Amino acid sequence: MAMNGITPSNMDPKHATRILVQAGDHWLHELHAGQTFRIVDLEGNQAVDTFFLDARDTAERYCAQTTIREQGSIHLTTGTRILSTRGRELLRIVADTCGRHDTLGGACAAESNQVRYGLEKRPMHNCRDSFLLAMARSGRNLTKRDIGANVNFFMNVPVTPEGKLDFQDGISAAGKYVEMTVTRDVLVLISNCPQLNNPCNGWNPTPVELLVWDPWRPSGARHPHVH
Ligand SMILES: [Zn+2]
Repeated sequence: MAMNGITPSNMDPKHATRILVQAGDHWLHELHAGQTFRIVDLEGNQAVDTFFLDARDTAERYCAQTTIREQGSIHLTTGTRILSTRGRELLRIVADTCGRHDTLGGACAAESNQVRYGLEKRPMHNCRDSFLLAMARSGRNLTKRDIGANVNFFMNVPVTPEGKLDFQDGISAAGKYVEMTVTRDVLVLISNCPQLNNPCNGWNPTPVELLVWDPWRPSGARHPHVH
């Protein structure tokens, strides 16, 4: 679990279901135990705000604190077990060509944009609203109470020796990806961050691609489980 541990994948994209998520768009879908899930930073330096909930019982969801404590590191990368509020593994990162991902910075919101960047930034698109919109549209009876501290894939938030957080231009680049195996059936909630006020997206939000492999359908035919 070394920092900047680059681990490429052996999975073949031609056997995957591929989904494009446009800059600033959101995605909420159920993934099933045994599937493999990849997020590709197509153009580089894009923050992908992501939250996971147990699909069978959404009261159990991603827990940044447990994940950080159990791996003894604040960054997520190959080998990271993405753990739930009940300490169970939801997913596991098995490949990573970016090197590390943040889970301290949280999601941008109308309120934080306003406080950090000015009153006129309040109506701007933000990840928290995208999360809420995705949940409202899902028909799954999810509300803002179901959101917790999230993962920011590809986002670069170095921590200084004094313990300060620093939002910096990304260490990611075009084509870099992170890949995880799905341990339990999960809902994956993504906001492909629309932030324009800080360098988390390199000042230019861009699309990402999602790939899903089914272990039971190696032919790569479009499968029924990504709705
Ligand atoms: Zn954001």
